[in-house]
Amino acid sequence: MSKSQSIIEQAERFGAHNYHPLPVVIAEAEGVVVRDPEGKEYMDFLSAYSAVNQGHRHPRIIGALKAQADRCTLTSRAFHNDRMGEFLEKLCAYTGFEMALPMNTGAEAVETAIKLARRWGSLVKGVENGRQRIIVCEDNFHGRTSTIISFSTDAEAHDHYGPYTPGFEIIPYDDTGALEGAIDGDTVAFLFEPIQGEAGVALPREGFLAEVRRICTDRKILMIADEVQTGFCRTGRRFACEHEGVRPDVMTLGKALGGGVFPVSAVVADRELMGVFEPNTHGSTFGGNPLGAAVAIAALEVLEDEELDARAERLGKRFRERIADMKCDRIRQVRGKGLLNAVVFDDDFEAWDVCLALRDAGILAKQTHGNIIRFAPPLVIGEDELDVAIERIRAVFEQIEELVRS
Ligand SMILES: *Cc1c(COP(=O)(O)O)cnc(C)c1O
Repeated sequence: MSKSQSIIEQAERFGAHNYHPLPVVIAEAEGVVVRDPEGKEYMDFLSAYSAVNQGHRHPRIIGALKAQADRCTLTSRAFHNDRMGEFLEKLCAYTGFEMALPMNTGAEAVETAIKLARRWGSLVKGVENGRQRIIVCEDNFHGRTSTIISFSTDAEAHDHYGPYTPGFEIIPYDDTGALEGAIDGDTVAFLFEPIQGEAGVALPREGFLAEVRRICTDRKILMIADEVQTGFCRTGRRFACEHEGVRPDVMTLGKALGGGVFPVSAVVADRELMGVFEPNTHGSTFGGNPLGAAVAIAALEVLEDEELDARAERLGKRFRERIADMKCDRIRQVRGKGLLNAVVFDDDFEAWDVCLALRDAGILAKQTHGNIIRFAPPLVIGEDELDVAIERIRAVFEQIEELVRS
């Protein structure tokens, strides 16, 4: 049995089966390239669901991690630490918001935004406590906590976890008429993804974000953009809402904020809103820890200094054009923004075997639904590197009929 096989068996034997990973073991990684225990190299086209935008083990981020590990790693918020303020100031400058609240995971950032909206509804908007309602979208993905999965429409994520948290109303994605119709006096917020990543890189029609902004302003509800996956240059802008020049009231952030090294998440908003949190009303033991803060500062600097937004925009166009050119009758659509892209196959097509063939060709990608494969390499990918990847993908896609038959 190969080393990889025995490692997989060990994980299957001792680990809960709450994932169904591609059968590949990653032992080492640098930039776009990862290596298995046998020494075979692959290009990472998932980037840990966009948590590795800066590339694996970016030297600047690893340097910051090591230096901070030698000084101080955790204080809790019972005391100040000398890195958190600097991190939050940098994050505010980067996002254009006045205040930030640090947490660890994306789900915690979303939970924080939900609590912020409800608290604002009760304290500022004057909604009776317990009646606050938040509007969300079908096919959303906002994380895995019991409150968040209460409003998931994905049966696997949702079913058998009742009783569910009330206070959410689900409308179709990309439907501003439904949004307007769903708002009543108790509505405090609209929580949505500017591009639905887990749903298969579902793009709203042009104008959706701007219309959402107008409706939220007119009807006095909070526009909460979940940019955990779309943020930090992934879509060719710092944040996906910028594609329509829109500034939400609240953004939830995570994944690439930690530079692929450490879980760091945050909610950003202006002072007027964030002011609803007072001492002891919300928190996290690890949130704002100096190690995460040091890593996040470096992660933001890399995004800025290497202009990864422009790079994602440019290389993403090239990627979509080249894929659309391939001779493969099973492909229905190539879609995405920046380097968050998906190839949609025929409805009844099962893409698992294609992902295995891509793996064998040296490309690691994962399907989001049976028939959709997401392609999201680290944003530091070189143009030549991208071209190599495209040719590997072509070799698989243009032989797809043989795969299907065998
Ligand atoms: C990944 C993701 C989350 C959850 O982040 P975790 O760190 O896994 O808790 C929330 N929202 C979106 C849009 C995501 O893609």
